[in-house]
Amino acid sequence: MQDRLESPANALPSSVDVAVIGGGPAGSSAAALLRKKGHAVAVFEAQRFPRFVIGESLLAHCMDHLDEAGMLDAVKERAYLVKGGALFLRGAERSDFDFADQFTKGWSWTWQVPRADFDLTLANAAYRQGVPIFYEQKVTALDVGPPHTLTMSGAAGEHRLTARWVIDASGYGRVLPRLLGLDTPSSLPPRKALFSHVTGDRRPSGPDENRIWICMHPGGAWIWIIPFSDGVTSVGVVADLAFFERYAGDDEAVLRAALAEEPNARDRLRDAKLLWAPRILESFSASVTRMSGPGYVLVGNATEFLDPVFSSGVTLALESANRAAKLVDRALAGESPDWARDYEAYMGVGIDAFRTFVEGWYSGEFPRVLFAPNPSPAIRRQITSVLAGYVWDQANPFVREPERKLRQVLNIIAREEAAG
Ligand code: FAD
Repeated sequence: MQDRLESPANALPSSVDVAVIGGGPAGSSAAALLRKKGHAVAVFEAQRFPRFVIGESLLAHCMDHLDEAGMLDAVKERAYLVKGGALFLRGAERSDFDFADQFTKGWSWTWQVPRADFDLTLANAAYRQGVPIFYEQKVTALDVGPPHTLTMSGAAGEHRLTARWVIDASGYGRVLPRLLGLDTPSSLPPRKALFSHVTGDRRPSGPDENRIWICMHPGGAWIWIIPFSDGVTSVGVVADLAFFERYAGDDEAVLRAALAEEPNARDRLRDAKLLWAPRILESFSASVTRMSGPGYVLVGNATEFLDPVFSSGVTLALESANRAAKLVDRALAGESPDWARDYEAYMGVGIDAFRTFVEGWYSGEFPRVLFAPNPSPAIRRQITSVLAGYVWDQANPFVREPERKLRQVLNIIAREEAAG
């Protein structure tokens, strides 16, 4: 892991055009895009990087955004493990999706990334493009303007600055949703993730070697297995809260017991050694009443977070950051962008495509499609494009009318089953 934190020793500014709260993928990429447009932008990040965050499996569409934000070459240098698709497993059944064979024209690969290193790489790339990043500055208050006044606290005490625009990229910190009362419950029920990094993963040889595995646990959970280039593998179990209550022992015992009950994970991970005690994230799904308002916009996980099963988080973070940065640029130039249409409704298209897949996953309907005995190659290509993150391609029926298309495919499967 690299530990070279590139950050300015300069004094905190007293005013900026755009203040970005949080230096994860959403914050660093939004700031880089605005800097390219010539705006005085600065990032205020509560922690010191590198820092751990979960969310290690990217989708192919991330590559478009990393490229546009001028970060792709810096990430390439890190030589992360290439991800060319995703493999779903249910006992002996397998359903493999290859990004090279998809409906939408786009990237056919991406990476699996340890996020501490990846996020540091993005932040350093933004810094090299002229974005000042102030670490260990926790934003604590906002006095609504214009201009807005942000209060932050760091080792040297409290600091206030004014900003014409505030971009909230605080992820799980949810700074503006809390300060402005924008939080609203997710449409998805509470679920829990228990996860760690391991060594000793017996990776398959051949084309599956790098694949992320998503294993369906017979007890209603699912398991992720995400190999990295340094030999470490990320492993996690996700389920409703009741699933975990039937296991005894500490978190490691619960994680090992759950992994041992799923045959694919059991075979691969029988010699696995945990690198740290498992971490828990509970009730991670979240939503907001609005994603933008006068002089502010929320991006990434500070908006809506659905569920980890299709690895959509970083893709939605980068897409929203890209979209928001372009609209803030227009607003700073004196235009009046239509935020409801061009930001909220636009982001809703991609979020709703993933929502249909996530709800279908937990209802059992999506696995019926995944493991259908006679899959249509055309339908699988359309699904692959959603799994690759191309969820704004209106030519794809799973984007245009996700719910209707899923029902249609389920009806075909039901008819085929009835016909024997
Ligand atoms: P973050 O990466 O969370 O960055 C936010 C930053 O804001 C942090 O560095 C934080 O320190 C900072 N911050 C917080 N509060 C403040 C404050 N008050 N002041 C200043 N700074 C602040 N996504 C994927 O794409 N692939 C996956 O495989 C995947 N797996 C997941 C597994 C689980 C169990 C969960 C729960 C999520 C997963 N995700 C995954 C989602 C992923 O974690 C997020 O979508 C992603 O990290 C969002 O990026 P972001 O930039 O919005 O926020």
